[in-house]
Amino acid sequence: MAFWFNSDRERGRIFSEAFARDLPDLPFITDLTQVDPDEVRYVLTWTLPPDLDRFKNLEIVFSIGAGVDQFRIETLPTEVKLVRMVEDGIVRMMQEYVTLAVLSLHRNLKAYLAQQSEGRWQALPARQAADRRIGVLGLGMLGQAVIERLTPFGFPLSGWSRSPRQIDGVRCHYGAESLPSFLGETDILVCLLPLTGETRGILDARLFAALSPGASLVHVGRGAQLDHDALIDALDRHQLSGAVIDVTEPEPLPPEHPFWRHPKIMLTPHIASVTQPDTAARAVIENVKRHRAGLDPIGLVDRSRGY
Ligand code: NAP
Repeated sequence: MAFWFNSDRERGRIFSEAFARDLPDLPFITDLTQVDPDEVRYVLTWTLPPDLDRFKNLEIVFSIGAGVDQFRIETLPTEVKLVRMVEDGIVRMMQEYVTLAVLSLHRNLKAYLAQQSEGRWQALPARQAADRRIGVLGLGMLGQAVIERLTPFGFPLSGWSRSPRQIDGVRCHYGAESLPSFLGETDILVCLLPLTGETRGILDARLFAALSPGASLVHVGRGAQLDHDALIDALDRHQLSGAVIDVTEPEPLPPEHPFWRHPKIMLTPHIASVTQPDTAARAVIENVKRHRAGLDPIGLVDRSRGY
């Protein structure tokens, strides 16, 4: 029985130390030539290796990231479990990023940076947090963590999910029918949805038109959820007032892409949240132990939902 780590060397070093300490009976392999493929029960990877079928006794594929849209789940044998990364480091970083983005939009940071570059000293109208409604698309691990971090600022908070959720102090909506009313009461929209057949292209012209006039967007889900042209159009027509974009399709964005220089867009290169090897190693080890004890791993992907 062996665990195959299919990621970078630096993370591998930290994982290998944690495995040696906490799961000494499970060989931890970074070089596949060291192991009989029949021994591989677990693999940690970002994408599925093309020759996965040679691991005849594979039980779990662990994603190195929180999303699993980069895997083609249908190509994975049904008896193999797919597990996304659920670890504290990802959560903390996403809380920081979305707080930074929401406060930047709320306090007109982009406009003040532009004024600074022009040597202009001028106050812009300021809205109070109680008058700025934040709506979060996706009320899963990250959506809820972000809401928890934003709560002390006093923004009215709402969220949207597929199934009903109850969160103290948050107006919770669910299902496609409730999307327009949720959007209509949102001034800053945060997208934290997984990429699935249902959410691909969801941030489009129709969605922007349904938002409260002058609303803004924080996009930290997946690039393929956003219609780039529709965003530019909504910003240029003043339907939207700003956007903070961390994920795009493609990544990296080509140098001539209009997002780079748009005066109302703040762009970052998919860094909102990054798997932290020490906390991730602990989470994966815990999941192997759960699996061995006959329990479902935390972050088990539901194949029918695709997340
Ligand atoms: P999660 O725990 O699986 O939560 C997903 C949420 O989205 C759930 O609330 C789910 O509804 C909702 N949802 C899914 N499909 C929906 C639909 N069709 N309609 C309405 N709601 C829908 O996922 P997570 O851990 O919070 O992560 C969310 C995503 O963040 C990841 O998939 C990844 O794409 C992205 N991410 C980005 C970065 C970055 O650096 N930019 C880093 C990490 C993750 P239910 O509650 O009803 O299931």
